[in-house]
Amino acid sequence: MPTAQIYLNCLSNKAVAKLAMKNENTKVFLGILALLITLSVFSDYSAQARSSKKLLAMNALFPEQINSDDISLTASNSISLSPSEINAQRIRQAFGVSMSKTLSSYTFAVTVLGKEQILLSYDIAGGAISQFNSEAEMLSHAWARLEQLTEKKELELRNRFDVEFIRAKGNDPTRAPKLAELYSLEYGLIHAIPSHLVTDHKGIRIHLFQAKHLNGQRAHWEKNVDRKPEIFIEGPEKGQSIVKSLERLILHELGHNSAYRVGWNPHHTERWKVTRELGWIPFNNPLTGEQGWAIRSKIDPESQYKLGVNGLWVRCNKQGQPLNENGERVTKQYLAKRLTASEVADIAMVRPATSYFPSPLEVYAEGMMIFRCDKESRGMLKANCPDLYEIVRREDQREIDICYGPGNYIRDLDGLLVKQSEQSTQLVAKFENRLP
Ligand SMILES: [Zn+2]
Repeated sequence: MPTAQIYLNCLSNKAVAKLAMKNENTKVFLGILALLITLSVFSDYSAQARSSKKLLAMNALFPEQINSDDISLTASNSISLSPSEINAQRIRQAFGVSMSKTLSSYTFAVTVLGKEQILLSYDIAGGAISQFNSEAEMLSHAWARLEQLTEKKELELRNRFDVEFIRAKGNDPTRAPKLAELYSLEYGLIHAIPSHLVTDHKGIRIHLFQAKHLNGQRAHWEKNVDRKPEIFIEGPEKGQSIVKSLERLILHELGHNSAYRVGWNPHHTERWKVTRELGWIPFNNPLTGEQGWAIRSKIDPESQYKLGVNGLWVRCNKQGQPLNENGERVTKQYLAKRLTASEVADIAMVRPATSYFPSPLEVYAEGMMIFRCDKESRGMLKANCPDLYEIVRREDQREIDICYGPGNYIRDLDGLLVKQSEQSTQLVAKFENRLP
């Protein structure tokens, strides 16, 4: 089994949906490499994105937040913009921060998981900006303040979580995080405590890339040469912002770190027992050498489905060999019984939380991401995916107990760690009991 694995390929749902939409007409399918071995699987995510109401409802919890921070100020697009709009674009490009102007003020804000936080505000009275002679003067002041805030926020995250933001060295394509990205990362780090740690006291290293670098992935978690986990986050594509989904990305990747921290190891089947609880089995086809994961059906316990080459899920036996409608072995995948992703989600022994479930590893990370986000998403996970909810809830608490000792902390409904007490435990219990 190769160790130089492509172990965790972590596309965000939004990225998957976007790519799927792009490719829908031509039926060009996405490649997802996601297993413990060098298995390649391909999936038509358009089918997933279309039809499962529950999955869509879950995905809808995470709306687009910031539209664009990578706008080129070319002559053609700047010609129709006012000087204020061009300045707003420059601010967005440099800091990921939105600048808006009303009759009474200029405000500079970041949006974290749909909630706006105002960072700076300058009053306008009688057509003049308080303290300043012109917009240019005010902007120069704001720019300097935003630079200070960036430095301060990064320092704050480094001190609080002991995380490290990797800087470019030589040809290394990493870059410093922008201010808005730091707010997004902060959200994920706070909500994933203690999964930000790689040892008892050392936080995880985070690489943000300058530009497109990860070959189709949005982010991934992987161990470095010293066997220490690190997180890699793709740079924004032209015209798109990385900020819009960074909270989700970091929570997802820290979900992988959580699995690692509690001892799950996908490179050793026996140390990844949780996959069976998640309703998956590993398979090894002696005829073809193919290895991978198959998701089990609750309708027919003898049936399982593996992700096929055309994006559909293929019914197979325990060795991953394709089966037809009658359960007979067939030689080609197209002769087998095949289901769309949403059909598989509907019959899965343990329903995945989102439309992104190429492997049990990703089901785990997605479940952890949604569980830790906020009350609304946690409630949705409990209502739609009760089995997965129980597993991630238990594993999350196990990690907290390993880190801080049993009986000390629990995760509250907002995804934050709080002291374990009768009151905090009851709040969670009441919330859970109200749900199906
Ligand atoms: Zn992942």
